[in-house]
Amino acid sequence: ERFSALGPLALLPLPGEYRRSVVWPVKKGTEAEWLGEENDQHFLNALQQTYGDRAGKFEKTGKRFSYPLSQVLAHKQAVGRVVLMGNAAHTIHPVAGQGFNLCLRDADVLVRFLMEQLAKSDDIGAPENLLAYEQSRLKDQQRVIKFCDSVVRGFSNQNPILKLLRNTGLIAFDVIPGVKPLVANYAMGLKA
Ligand SMILES: Cc1cc2nc3c(=O)[nH]c(=O)nc-3n(C[C@H](O)[C@H](O)[C@H](O)COP(=O)(O)OP(=O)(O)OC[C@H]3O[C@@H](n4cnc5c(N)ncnc54)[C@H](O)[C@@H]3O)c2cc1C
Repeated sequence: ERFSALGPLALLPLPGEYRRSVVWPVKKGTEAEWLGEENDQHFLNALQQTYGDRAGKFEKTGKRFSYPLSQVLAHKQAVGRVVLMGNAAHTIHPVAGQGFNLCLRDADVLVRFLMEQLAKSDDIGAPENLLAYEQSRLKDQQRVIKFCDSVVRGFSNQNPILKLLRNTGLIAFDVIPGVKPLVANYAMGLKA
């Protein structure tokens, strides 16, 4: 992932040695918004210039498409005997790749709540049980939402002091032993 002036640019692995998926969130109304519609060579040049050479030379592009990204948070995730999960409960910015991980943790906790009810031969759809599930997930969900929001804000701000601070932070992240696993654990929800 590259944090460019145009927006965070991520390359994700696809099957096949050299194929990658490109995710490039850009601000509405900026020049970059049009990159998706420009001709292939223009796009490849912009991609190469922004990403640099670390992933090699970008030679071909497939069909590109764009859609608006917006944070959507349900006011309630458990009502009566119904539970909202996944993106229906919380759609967050993909900048830190946290959305699906969060959904998995929600699912894991819900299963535990249902298993406890089953073990007691109680009604698994009992509204108070589902409400208790919702309550137990709010802290982790809010932590992830704040984290993604602060990454988006922190990395899109072009203030020179902030730029210096975040570049120093990224170098520290790369070279100081122990920092990467710490951040990875935080992102996986292992240390809240
Ligand atoms: C660009 C991008 C990169 C991401 N990268 C990561 C990552 O690296 N790591 C990570 O953890 N998360 C990532 N996420 C987040 C992750 O994709 C979502 O958290 C996850 O897909 C949510 O799963 P879901 O099943 O709730 O919703 P979705 O995956 O959105 O599935 C909902 C499905 O319902 C269908 N649907 C919608 N409305 C209807 C309807 N009325 N009738 C029938 N079907 C309907 C949709 O077509 C879709 O197939 C990323 C998201 C984006 C946008």
